[in-house]
Amino acid sequence: MSIVVENLSHIYHENTALQTAALEGVSLSIERSHWTSFIGHTGSGKSTLAQHLNAILRPTSGSVTVDGAAILPEKKREKTDFREIRRKVGLIFQYPEQQLFEETVREELAFAPRNWGVPESRIGDLTAKALRAVDLDDSYLERNPFGLSGGEKRRVAIASVLTCAPDYLVLDEPTAGLDERGRAALLKLLDRIHREGTGIVLVTHDLEIAFSRSDRILVLDHGRCAGLGTPDEIAIQLYRQPVSGLVLPEVMLTALKLRERGLRAPLTCDAERLA
Ligand code: ADP
Repeated sequence: MSIVVENLSHIYHENTALQTAALEGVSLSIERSHWTSFIGHTGSGKSTLAQHLNAILRPTSGSVTVDGAAILPEKKREKTDFREIRRKVGLIFQYPEQQLFEETVREELAFAPRNWGVPESRIGDLTAKALRAVDLDDSYLERNPFGLSGGEKRRVAIASVLTCAPDYLVLDEPTAGLDERGRAALLKLLDRIHREGTGIVLVTHDLEIAFSRSDRILVLDHGRCAGLGTPDEIAIQLYRQPVSGLVLPEVMLTALKLRERGLRAPLTCDAERLA
């Protein structure tokens, strides 16, 4: 079970004065059992790549294959059905309010399964389960999503995707704008979702999170792959060859400096502190 990105390029507004090459020849394989993080400076192409993983965007060239089903460049008059891919790959946008549009949390959570054709008799169970999975109780069902706090909105957005039991959860900067407590609580939630078998793909510029959680890290720089490997491999690479906008967590920098002096120092980012 994996998402395979092959030689993916994306150009916004091609053949116009606004033409922007956001991704150029990016390839990677994302295992369902992994936590994969995309890091890179603002504008490096992280969000664009994330939106290709469930066919919100289509490749200008190259392909994305989700458990064998291909997303290819768009052709005129083609008929496509990406519903199964969108169920498998849940995408949480950076600003969850962009994803919430119903008047109650209950309706919000029922939207995707209803769209998916789940019988009405099962929807109550699915919404209750999804709400519990994000640690919100039933009292939230009748609340208006727009009246919730930033952290609660994020939870409802995640729950609305969990109703379809995705195999992969792609999150674009989910901790942006949250305070230290909100960030820790959200990470705890993602850790649990991951432990229970959902692949996590995280777009983040919070390198502490990326280095403490990931199995694989992709570094993007101006739309190109500037590194792909385990946290250790990427930390060593960034230490030797810095990429603009990416500063390694202090503990890792210290360990790398000690290693340079021939001392043994574990190259770990303290996940406990973030738990
Ligand atoms: P990141 O998530 O790393 O900040 P993005 O994927 O948002 O990077 O952006 C990559 C490049 O594509 C940037 O140059 C950005 O300005 C451009 N871009 C992103 N979205 C759009 C869009 N909808 N229309 C035109 N250009 C865009």
